[in-house]
Amino acid sequence: MTELTFKCSNCKKIFTSDVGKISFPIEKEEPDFEREAMCPSCGELKRGEYTLTEEGQSQLTKVFFYS
Ligand SMILES: [Zn+2]
Repeated sequence: MTELTFKCSNCKKIFTSDVGKISFPIEKEEPDFEREAMCPSCGELKRGEYTLTEEGQSQLTKVFFYS
């Protein structure tokens, strides 16, 4: 499991969510998550309804280098 820190675009809350397996397809700019982020207030979010925080970005970078 991989927990990343996100910000919900709907309610602006910052939360951590387990996105499962993360893959980095070369043809895409964005990584693929096995599960989408789950906001504690809004439930499961779609792409574009959340952003990675700075902390989330660095967590993702670590996953990238250790995968
Ligand atoms: Zn929310």
